[in-house]
Amino acid sequence: STPVITVDGPSGAGKGTISHLLAEKLGWHFLDSGALYRVTGQACVIEGVSWEDHEAVTRIARHLDVSFTTADTGEILVAYKGRDVSRAIRTEEGGRGASTVAAIPAVRQALLARQREFLQPPGLVADGRDMGTVVFPDAPLKIFLTASAEERARRRFDQLLAKGESVSLPRLLEDIEERDARDSQRKVAPLLPAKDAVVIDSTATPVADVFAAVMREVAA
Ligand code: C5P
Repeated sequence: STPVITVDGPSGAGKGTISHLLAEKLGWHFLDSGALYRVTGQACVIEGVSWEDHEAVTRIARHLDVSFTTADTGEILVAYKGRDVSRAIRTEEGGRGASTVAAIPAVRQALLARQREFLQPPGLVADGRDMGTVVFPDAPLKIFLTASAEERARRRFDQLLAKGESVSLPRLLEDIEERDARDSQRKVAPLLPAKDAVVIDSTATPVADVFAAVMREVAA
């Protein structure tokens, strides 16, 4: 069967960077499951549906017309109904929408099959929160990447600063802690490492060293 490596953990732990590098190194497909939740939230905004209207949000998730394409620059472009939403889904608002709709069980159910469609030869690296626990429970290698909330807020701060956006660090930390609480306390697929996951804390570890640690697990 086609192999899958799952990379789960809270936002800002470096999952995106590590799983992209990993997929590239192995020449495998890549699933950004967070983007599916983000697009669902954004689709609600576009369609005029409230994130609190569970039935309407679920209908949107079930029929989500989303596509991922890789630009010449290597950047992954995300489109909803053919319209580029790559930028819109990465805002703080986009993150809030994603985590709000992600707390609806029927939405998670609706996105399950779609996520599994990404499992194609020669293999898949799946980035998210419940890749190893729910979506690909039989994955032979599960990584759980974590870092302190302060460190994750600082990384997000640097990213936004580089993009020329002015933000306050305390506000970001508050956002991250709020989102962590929502993600770990929800009843469906709470953010927890799978029993058989390898937990890596990246708080004081440079990306290159984290990647090396992951590659050691891949080779093991
Ligand atoms: O990973 P990313 O920050 O893009 O995810 C956005 C939000 O989507 C997360 O805060 C989480 O609430 C939700 N999510 C999820 N399950 C996943 C991926 C993301 O619930 N597998």
